[in-house]
Amino acid sequence: MAALAVAKPKFTETFVDNKRKDDIRMANIAASQSVADAVRTSLGPRGMDKMISTSSGEVIITNDGATILNKMEVLQPAAKFLVELSKSQDVVAGDGTTTVVVIAGALLKASLTLLSSGIHPTIVSEALNKASIKAVEILSAMAIPVELSDRDSLVKSASTSLNSKVVSQYSSLLAPLAVDAVLSVVDPAKPDLVDLKDIKIVKKLGGTVDDTELVKGLVFDKKFQISPPKTDIEQSIVVSDYTQMDRILKEERNYILGMIKKIKATGCNVLLLQKSILRDAVTDLSLHYLAKAKILVIKDVERDEIEFITKTLNCLPISNIEHFRAEKLGYADLVEEVSLGDGGKIVKITGIKDIGRTNCVLVRGSNQLVLDEAERSLHDALCVVRCLVNKKFLIAGGGAPEIELSRQLGAWAKVLQGMEGYCVKAFAETLEVIPYSLAENAGLNPITIVTELRNRHAQGEINAGINVRKGQITNIIDENVVQPLLVSTSAITLATECVRMILKIDDIVTVR
Ligand code: ADP
Ligand code: MG
Repeated sequence: MAALAVAKPKFTETFVDNKRKDDIRMANIAASQSVADAVRTSLGPRGMDKMISTSSGEVIITNDGATILNKMEVLQPAAKFLVELSKSQDVVAGDGTTTVVVIAGALLKASLTLLSSGIHPTIVSEALNKASIKAVEILSAMAIPVELSDRDSLVKSASTSLNSKVVSQYSSLLAPLAVDAVLSVVDPAKPDLVDLKDIKIVKKLGGTVDDTELVKGLVFDKKFQISPPKTDIEQSIVVSDYTQMDRILKEERNYILGMIKKIKATGCNVLLLQKSILRDAVTDLSLHYLAKAKILVIKDVERDEIEFITKTLNCLPISNIEHFRAEKLGYADLVEEVSLGDGGKIVKITGIKDIGRTNCVLVRGSNQLVLDEAERSLHDALCVVRCLVNKKFLIAGGGAPEIELSRQLGAWAKVLQGMEGYCVKAFAETLEVIPYSLAENAGLNPITIVTELRNRHAQGEINAGINVRKGQITNIIDENVVQPLLVSTSAITLATECVRMILKIDDIVTVR
């Protein structure tokens, strides 16, 4: 405390008026903190959900931090950082988007206390950085290595992330599905990388989330002309002997028939027609001949879907029927229109020859709210598995890592000197916000729970965590509550970065 008294000399002259800068910093912190408070009640398996009503009248029910913040209309510039923070966590790890904001909010609160006791923002910022680096070291030391062949552990981590979702009752279906979907797109040549763009999620209203399935192939929620049309266009053309057709149509017909002859049609071939800026890239007449030759034309494909479809079907897109060549076709055993039993229909393409490393997940839900949340939850589960592919380490959940960090960082703070140690100690205490909120949201007494957690960890039980179902503290690994190391480390690193950024701002300049 003696050091602190030195840090804030009461009567020092300064060149600039620091009062305004302090005020701006305080206002920024207060605004950001209120954003963090808004999502804190959503943390954990017993967290509350938010109902978001947008200006366009749309209603969303979600538990996902990134979605809640994304939809919130935040006006204060510094508070917008927290929205961005949640987005970055979503990009880096995909899960932990509430956690990261809750940690940032608590760190801001702690910084406020540090600043008001006279420590300079730069010193606070440096100390926080040092503490976060140490935190990552401690977490990495606690982590348990996991093999991709250990499907059980992967499923457990995916379940943990689904536990806290509105659709948690379906986690026994969605967790293994997420694991299979991700593992099957891993390229053995690049065993650490997963591109989630290789997993296409198709939402289809109807049924229940239980009907969600993984399809090895392609699923489209649009109509195609699958069988040759029953009209006798061809006949009428033959009869009229082209006299009525203009020359272009005749040429097109000959061209297509010529190309088709070269293709040995067995099963079904698929031709991908890129959405063209030219109108009429393909005429009804061409479609007719192509359908007769068992060539399915996928029309009007959006630009962002092209990559996925070409990869899956092993075909090449064309922008006009004149570019149609045999080698551009994909081949599939079966293209079928499947009735989903409730009036809905989808088109499924399966038995694809030389299928790329891709997957489709057909997500079902009885209403739009559930369907959308199921998709977001599945995204989190997929991200969790992706995290484990990137970095093959697991840690316990249920507040265990945060309490352990808090304990070890607290001990480390005592070794450090002066104000740095003081700030690191504050950082360590801040991390207790996670177990505290988990307990509070589960209706448990947070103070009793956190105190007991501290005791258990002091006795060396590094995996003691909050068992929200039983309302007590147990070895959380035995409860199968595990999560990827990457989710926790990135939450701490990103939250610290964000808080440091807010601390460094001492003025807001508005430009008209
Ligand atoms: P986020 O958006 O940050 O992922 P969640 O609402 O998913 O937030 O909550 C994640 C937190 O909940 C993690 O700290 C995780 O360890 C914890 N958690 C998840 N499942 C359980 C469980 N069954 N028991 C205790 N804690 C859990
Ligand atoms: Mg989660």
